[in-house]
Amino acid sequence: MATNVPAQSGTLLLVDDEPVILDSLCAILREEGYTVHAAQSGAEAMRLSERQEFDLAIIDLKLPDIDGTSVLRVLKQNCPDICAILITAYPTTESAIRAVLEEAYEYVTKPFDVSHVKLLIKRGLKERALLRENKQLVLNLQKEKEKLQTVLQIGHVLNSILNLDELAQCIVRQIAGLLGARTCSLMLRDEEDMLTIAAAIGLEDLVIQTTRVAMGESISGWAAKEGKPVVVTNIEEDMHFGRTNLPQYQSKSLLCIPLKIKDRVIGVINATDRLEIMPVPEFSEEEARFIGLVCNYAAIALENAQLYGEVKNLAITDGLTELYNHRYFQTQLTAEVLRVQRYPHPLALIMFDIDFFKEFNDTYGHPLGDLVLQQIAKTIRKAVRKVDIPCRYGGEEFAVILPETRIGEAVTVAEKIRQSIDELKFETGTQRHYKKMTVSGGVAEFKKSMSKEDFVTAADKALYQAKSGGKNRICVA
Ligand code: GH3
Ligand code: MG
Ligand code: MG
Repeated sequence: MATNVPAQSGTLLLVDDEPVILDSLCAILREEGYTVHAAQSGAEAMRLSERQEFDLAIIDLKLPDIDGTSVLRVLKQNCPDICAILITAYPTTESAIRAVLEEAYEYVTKPFDVSHVKLLIKRGLKERALLRENKQLVLNLQKEKEKLQTVLQIGHVLNSILNLDELAQCIVRQIAGLLGARTCSLMLRDEEDMLTIAAAIGLEDLVIQTTRVAMGESISGWAAKEGKPVVVTNIEEDMHFGRTNLPQYQSKSLLCIPLKIKDRVIGVINATDRLEIMPVPEFSEEEARFIGLVCNYAAIALENAQLYGEVKNLAITDGLTELYNHRYFQTQLTAEVLRVQRYPHPLALIMFDIDFFKEFNDTYGHPLGDLVLQQIAKTIRKAVRKVDIPCRYGGEEFAVILPETRIGEAVTVAEKIRQSIDELKFETGTQRHYKKMTVSGGVAEFKKSMSKEDFVTAADKALYQAKSGGKNRICVA
């Protein structure tokens, strides 16, 4: 921003009822380079000030229609930053006081020295420019402060969410709100370096589920690869990215901001399709900068949530089979039992135990035994619903908690798993020599009078029956 007003530029208003003075001063000042408007009466001056903005006014105190100070008051209403020089042919203490009261910049007496007036105008304009600049700076600071407060508030909210999905949704909602964007998506970079959509608004489910963008590909990929924001004001005229890249978007302007932690890009935010209520349909560089600040917080919160999720998973997952571990089994079973004790709902439990597993281990070795455990775990996981809780109960024992399930359905599930395992062939380390393995299973349904321990014992007893009945079978408590 320039602090100097270029010399002799500005729009001036001269108000004097003496045509000679008015005309000569007008001519002199125009020659200096100013744009000059002249008014012979107070009314005319006030009318002019309604129609256009003046930087400076030179007003005769004694006008035929209205008093000069009253004219100044109206001019100030119409042009708040106007700089005024009052002129009088009859200097009195009273008129000087009035000039001060009206906050005139200067007070000059007739006859005046033209070069003195020129100097006053020059200084007055300079001072006015500084004043305006200051006002603008204060305004900008105020705006900047409000923005930072918003960023901080959003940062607080984001940092309090540890669930990744919930967090991703929240980020998208907040940013879409700030930008007035109808379409907004958060893409995260996966292990294969592809960007996939973690959360979005304004996009169809199919698009959300199937979109995969490689680093460097289209706008999101470019922003992710370069780690730089992209502001496109008109996609049709954009040199970098053609409209063909984005068939699903309606508007021509879009914004793409990388989510970075230090120099590592973990994803991008895309926004487009601005709401009509926004002042302009295009996104600006300034908005990109501001959203960039929000994205800094978002990136940290996302990484925290990811780490938290990983740690949480580690704590509840069995390392070998990737099923839930024994501890998780116990806490979930406690919770489920409490739930059905309060609101009677069906609840079933299946326990599996591998048949003759010791023999397998002794013959083929522990490492191959581990592979058997992994394959059986995978078979169990594939056979159960999302709401079921498949666990590694102990060494070669597995348990599945089945909420909302009656004994009949649970037996069907158990039988399906037993059969699937029966059809598997397991490596033995010798080429083309495979071994079959089987499991036995016990199924129990929760009864009102039971404790959690009774429930487990019931399933265990059924399992014992299956074992003593000849193994590779399912028994019911
Ligand atoms: P049954 O048919 O009656 O169930 O006999 P079993 O041999 O399967 O049962 P047993 O309880 O005698 O043996 C269980 C075996 O499971 C003993 C143990 O070495 C093996 N085992 C337990 N945990 C693991 C593991 O993590 N990896 C491997 N490879 N083996 C394990
Ligand atoms: Mg056992
Ligand atoms: Mg066994």
